[in-house]
Amino acid sequence: MSELTPRELLPDLWMIEDTCNVYLVRDGNAAIAIDFGGGEWLGALPGLGIETLEHVLLTHAHTEQCHGLSRHDSWPFTIHAPGGEDTFLDPEKAGIFGPPPWFFMGCPLNYCPPPGRIAGVRYNIIGNGHMFWRGRRIRFMDTPGHGRNACSIILDHADKQLVFCGDAAHAGGTVYQPFHLEWDHWTGEGALAAWEGIVRLRGIAIDLLCPSHGPVIPDEPASMLNVLAERLMSFYHAKGQVSPGEPDRYLPMEALDCGAYRCSEHLYQFGGNGYLLVSETGEALVVDPFVADLGSLAELLEELGHVTPTAMAVSHYHYDHCDGIPALRQRFGAEAWLHPIVAEPIREPGSMFVPWLRPEPIEPDHLWPEEGAWQWNEYEFAITHWPGQTWWHCGFMAQIDGRKVFFAGDSFTPTSKWNGTGGFCAYNGSRFADGYVPSARRVIEWQPEVMAAGHSNYYAFAQSKFEKVIEWAGWAAEAVRALCPSGDLELDYHSVHEVVRRCSKVGAER
Ligand SMILES: [Zn+2]
Ligand SMILES: [Zn+2]
Repeated sequence: MSELTPRELLPDLWMIEDTCNVYLVRDGNAAIAIDFGGGEWLGALPGLGIETLEHVLLTHAHTEQCHGLSRHDSWPFTIHAPGGEDTFLDPEKAGIFGPPPWFFMGCPLNYCPPPGRIAGVRYNIIGNGHMFWRGRRIRFMDTPGHGRNACSIILDHADKQLVFCGDAAHAGGTVYQPFHLEWDHWTGEGALAAWEGIVRLRGIAIDLLCPSHGPVIPDEPASMLNVLAERLMSFYHAKGQVSPGEPDRYLPMEALDCGAYRCSEHLYQFGGNGYLLVSETGEALVVDPFVADLGSLAELLEELGHVTPTAMAVSHYHYDHCDGIPALRQRFGAEAWLHPIVAEPIREPGSMFVPWLRPEPIEPDHLWPEEGAWQWNEYEFAITHWPGQTWWHCGFMAQIDGRKVFFAGDSFTPTSKWNGTGGFCAYNGSRFADGYVPSARRVIEWQPEVMAAGHSNYYAFAQSKFEKVIEWAGWAAEAVRALCPSGDLELDYHSVHEVVRRCSKVGAER
């Protein structure tokens, strides 16, 4: 039996395992479909005694739910979608979102929109609203998560109250591809919205819960939804503070006339992200050169006098930490030393699907070792891969003016900034047991005195902060894993880049 063969769930109710579950409800010789997938199943309708498919109702605008609908400009049925999903479906708005890659953006509004736009959609699926079909009242309920606008569809059929919940819930108290709940790179906004949707769903009578992926849930969906609500709440908590109770420990910096700061005799902080380390030779090393900071750097150089940037180093690939490289190379002949893992996305942006990546490639002048030492004038740096906020991140430390200074980029911040880290999300390549944990251990092992982090966060190292991070990473990973249908973080969560890549290929072929 082909997967696209309709399977009868109840009299006049079928499920088809297309790229998502498609549900068909028949009334006489007419029918409606919940979600569409690729649509090859349309050929099976006559065999079910269905002469006309009158409506297709989409739970949300992911490609798996609706890609087949973009094949034609018009269909003999009416397509309904949640209000707000026109951003991804309306042909007039095609330019807003496609085609990927999205480079400069953070987390996209939709990780997997359909490849082509879909014409003639009615955006009338709105929470607390309804529509009538053959005398039946079809009700809509907001269950966001797989996008901000996702809805569940409620329908009475065969003396039962059926609920089609899209990807809001998956069997086992899990969520299909839970990375879709990461609406931004650091807050729990999507997790909290998903939690609220599940609590709403749990409050109603459900005789059969029909999700967009995985099996239908006939028995006690409420207890499964209870488990899911609890898991969503701990996911939300994981998105919170990574080092609870720790003071910020900001270190004093001396304000200069030009607006930059002197951290110590030879170390300066300028603009939003930059540090300038001055050597006795009069040469300077620029850490995290950002185009928007170059004016501040010029003013700092003028105030210092007789200092020339000859070298650049970069904590991570985000454009606000490296896009000033070409300008400084051109202006001063400064050379960029990059960590091999940081260089990966920067030199081949076209091959990566990650946030805040500069679209034009930058070649490093030199590569650092992945782990090891680098001598620059009188400073000896220790180099390490230092994943946290993102996988493509490094850390480097040197003795500067009598203190061990660790250049920390965006992997960890004082407690009051971004929950004590740059936030975690799958799309940014944040990892737990092989990311935050070894990074926290490394810095504990190295015992720096000063953390020179991105976004002007110059603070004192404390072992207690990083011990808390290790503890947090352990339970945060479990919180995410509990949401994965397969129980495997790689398959269901860290797979985001592969999923986005697949979607973008479909888009490019069109
Ligand atoms: Zn989805
Ligand atoms: Zn960053």
